[in-house]
Amino acid sequence: MSVLELARSSRWVSRFKIFYSQRKLFLTSSSSFSTTSTANNDEGPARPAAPPIRVSLTESAGRGVFATRRIGAGDLIHTAKPLVAHPSLSAINSVCYFCLRKLKTTSQTQPLQFCDKNCKEQSKVFYGLERRANWSAYDDYCRTHGLKYPLLVKRLACMVISGVAAADGLDILQPANLSSIMVSQMEEGFGLLRSAFTKANILDEQIAFLTKTWYTSVLARIRINAFRIELARGVYEDLLLSAAASVEAEAAVGNAVYILASFYNHDCDPNAHILWIENADARLKALRDVEAGEELRICYIDASMDRDARQTVLSQGFGFQCNCLRCVSGD
Ligand SMILES: [Zn+2]
Ligand SMILES: [Zn+2]
Repeated sequence: MSVLELARSSRWVSRFKIFYSQRKLFLTSSSSFSTTSTANNDEGPARPAAPPIRVSLTESAGRGVFATRRIGAGDLIHTAKPLVAHPSLSAINSVCYFCLRKLKTTSQTQPLQFCDKNCKEQSKVFYGLERRANWSAYDDYCRTHGLKYPLLVKRLACMVISGVAAADGLDILQPANLSSIMVSQMEEGFGLLRSAFTKANILDEQIAFLTKTWYTSVLARIRINAFRIELARGVYEDLLLSAAASVEAEAAVGNAVYILASFYNHDCDPNAHILWIENADARLKALRDVEAGEELRICYIDASMDRDARQTVLSQGFGFQCNCLRCVSGD
């Protein structure tokens, strides 16, 4: 079993990411990063509009997310909407094609469905374009090779052509190091994606951004920054209040890429975690009391593994050696 398979087989490994040490950093130590906070009624008590975090440099792991005030155990730190999300091919008829919410009724005859008018409306532009092309060869390519990330690239490309996403929207994220073998394996996907658009009579100038370099660069970023979306199973209110990391999750419904959520560093004994309750909107929650100035970290892997197994998965799958307190203590 390869390390990536090992990693994927763990339900806690939801993405691949490497540390940012010795890399060019785009944020200074004093800059802050705020997101649009969606203060819905379902997110608990009223909170300030800006989340209580900032993105700053860490001493050893590049950028990281820090608390700007005290955060209590179980508190929602912030929510995050995906930049791009796509259902798994196995879940494509059972979840919303836009937000990955479980559909109440599923239909095999209607190819793709949305959970409500809002999702339909938000995807209207790029979905209209997506429907113009024939994706059977591209989807077959993903199925045959067991690939899920090219689906995110396809959607992003449709969003870029439709003008709802920027071609360089993922550039802020750290890319995986790709071997020449990996790049050559991506050529087939790139060719199929491009030909699907040209066969659908999408003009050359509309897909001028869609070069092999763009395709591999986007895929390299998705590889280590995509989260596998597993909707939590349980009583909704309990999940909102709980500080426990071990919520029971259903099988993955899809994958998504976020910007801010990708800035959280890893810890084998994390003080924060990410969960999905009803759809691909992520919730970052505190697992214990966090003081102002403390770095917020999530666990990328199955925290129940022993130290050696964790180090192997983190080093080979994510490209770094973990020096968290738990690892240092030999736990
Ligand atoms: Zn939806
Ligand atoms: Zn560790």
